[in-house]
This record gives sequence, C-alpha cells and structure tokens, in this order.
Amino acid sequence: MVLHYIGIDVGATWIRIALATEAGEIIKKVVLRTPREGDRYTIANAISNKIENEFGNVLRDVKAIGIGSAGPMDLATGIVINAPNIPIHTFELAKPLQEKFRKPVIMANDCIAGVWGEKVLGLGKEHENIVYVTISTGIGGGMIVNNTLLLGKMGNAHEIGHIVIDVSGKMKCGCGGYGHWEAYASGANIPRFASKLIEEWNLNEQEKESPIYKAYKDDALSSELIYAKAKEGDKLSLRIVDEINKYNIAGFINIINLYDPELIVVGGSVALKNKELVIDRIRDGVHKSTGVVTSIPKILPTKFEDDVVLMGAIALAMKPPENLVKMLKYLQL
Ligand SMILES: [Zn+2]
Repeated sequence: MVLHYIGIDVGATWIRIALATEAGEIIKKVVLRTPREGDRYTIANAISNKIENEFGNVLRDVKAIGIGSAGPMDLATGIVINAPNIPIHTFELAKPLQEKFRKPVIMANDCIAGVWGEKVLGLGKEHENIVYVTISTGIGGGMIVNNTLLLGKMGNAHEIGHIVIDVSGKMKCGCGGYGHWEAYASGANIPRFASKLIEEWNLNEQEKESPIYKAYKDDALSSELIYAKAKEGDKLSLRIVDEINKYNIAGFINIINLYDPELIVVGGSVALKNKELVIDRIRDGVHKSTGVVTSIPKILPTKFEDDVVLMGAIALAMKPPENLVKMLKYLQL
C-alpha cells in the first residue's frame, strides 16, 4: 500500500485541495471557489464532494488530512468563527470531514500551517526557530520557537498584521484599530495609504505626470499598479514603495526582537510578485537598522510560491505537531 496525504487550503476566494505522496510531494491539485452563501456545513460539504469526486479511487490509502484555513478559529471544536474575509463567517470544518472520511483531520490557521510546512518540507528543515510572514491581502505570521509551534489559547496566535507600528494612528485598519501594520502595507490597504500620502505630499510637476497620480485622481489605485510602475522606475511609485517599506521594516524588526528567529520565510502575493521591491528592501532595511537587539536572521522568499498554505496543510497531516494534536479535542471523538 502506498500512503497518501490530503492537504486543504481554505482561503477567502479559493479552496485548494492536494493529494500528496508519503514524502509530501503533490501528485494532483484541484481548486474550487469558496462557497459564498449557505449554512455552517456548506463549505465542509463542498470540500468533501470535491475530495470524493477527485480522489475517491485512492481514499483508502490516505492516512490523514491536513487543513490550513483563514481564521479565527476554535481548534478544540474545529470550527472557524467570525472569519472576516470569508463570506460564510462561521462554519464547521474539521469534524464533518473527519466523520465522512474516517481519517484524522489536523487543522490550524493558514499562517501556522505555513510555518509548519516550511519546517517539515521547506526552507526551515535545518532550523529550530522559524517565522513565516505573509504579505498578501492581509499580513499574518506563524512562529516556531525552539522547535515548538506557537498556537495561542484557541489557535489564533500571531495576528502580526495588527501590531501597532504607528502610534499617531494615521491609518485605520479593517479590524477597527489604528496604526496597525496591515493598514499601511497589505495589498488591500496599500491604495488607501498611497492616496493619503499623495494628499499629504506637495507633489512636484514630474510626480504629477506619474500614471499613479492619474490613477489616484481617477480613484483607480491598486497595489499591483503601484508596484508595476515602481518596477518601471516611476519616481512617485518608488517614493510610495519606500514609505510602505518603512512600515514593513518596522514590522520585521518587531518580529525579530520578539521571537529571535534564525530564519524568516516570506510569502504572500504582494511580497512574492515584488521580491526586489519588498523582500530585498526589507532585508536591507533590517540590516541598516540599529533597533535589532539580537542577531539578524536570514530573510528569504518561500520556495512554495502560492502553495505555502497547501504544503503546510500536507505537513500537518504528515507530521502533526504534538501540542496541536492535544488542542484538537474533536480528534478524540
Ligand atoms: Zn488591525
């Protein structure tokens, strides 16, 4: 019998499901849209139908199922609770899948899954202190300290996008707070922050000719456009990117001072599509800073690209962290 694992990445827009070998290599990957309406079982039902249809022939060889989901969640019951970015905010996830397939289902939030994937299958194999940071629609993190995966009381540790990095509170965050990292540097919030900067700055004539200034006036700013124009050398875009990176660098310095990692792995579409303008600039900024009180870790982009959470889910199924298993009370049912 050849053993297999199933990994599931539950995101705001897409759910990805992969079948992996015993060594964690993806054999087949399928994607479905995250259901936008229904009851608390709709999402789990959609996932189990897809698994039956796509992987039905090998299900008896599947040893375990791992899930990395957008949160917050209650790990004891395997329920996602009040997820702001998923249209069905509260839903059952682990228990219905476990009952249906009669396999252990190991669940964690997406960034916690992400760091576990880096530890088991990715860049973190040789390290005991690893941080995973995603800069995407939002900003989030997962941490392993002295080989222990940090979880929090319900599994919602590391909402690092919501650390305060601007006490003047210039920008309001989607969570309602002021001055949070995510409000300045996440894909969803960059257009608002860029607009604020353009309003504050006394632009010179050259800057007013920038396509970014035109997009601002047309209410058509996007983070994609700002980074695309910065890559072309547009001065105003580069000035905005520099400003965003001040907040990214502050966020990374806080993370390093808090967790003393050997390695920070960076993922998320904003970072991965703009490695030079985001990851390289953050690394430079951290090295130039006088505010890091420990040694500076390696800061590297993930090699898993868009599959970080999926690889994390597979890693959870392959090698479930002991402290996580203790929290998953539904596993004992
Ligand atoms: Zn916030």
